[in-house]
Amino acid sequence: MIPILVRERYPQVANVANTNQLVAQRLTELGIRYSRGRKAVIDALTNADGPRSAAELHRDLAEAVPLSSLYRTLAVLTDADVVTMHYGSRGITRYELSEWLAGHHHHLVCLSCGTVDDITPPPALEADLESVVISLTVAGRFSPKGHSLEIEGLCSECA
Ligand SMILES: [Zn+2]
Ligand SMILES: [Zn+2]
Repeated sequence: MIPILVRERYPQVANVANTNQLVAQRLTELGIRYSRGRKAVIDALTNADGPRSAAELHRDLAEAVPLSSLYRTLAVLTDADVVTMHYGSRGITRYELSEWLAGHHHHLVCLSCGTVDDITPPPALEADLESVVISLTVAGRFSPKGHSLEIEGLCSECA
């Protein structure tokens, strides 16, 4: 029997403080200042239940981070590998915490409203996905280093 997909928000991150600590550590190693604006973006992504576009983040961060510096902040955080870009439907670029912070997960992409939600399969199902990835790549002598499953459909709001 296939277990039901469990939807969890960043299971490997205990809380916002923990994420902030890890991000601060990484940026310090790279000689990058963990400014108030950068912290505001990390907090917003930690509290999000899926990848967010710059426009979506700007809606939450209007006061804290002006749009002009939001793009630069996202570029800095992406270069530092604390944030990863997600290329969703309709060519919209979204941002999320990198998997070393957020935990390994997959995405549900709504084709109607464009919302992207994270899903974390239970370990047994994730192991099945892993073996599918190996089966798909072994013939091409390709060495998989990771994978991400994008499931397209309609969210509960749009269905
Ligand atoms: Zn939707
Ligand atoms: Zn996976």
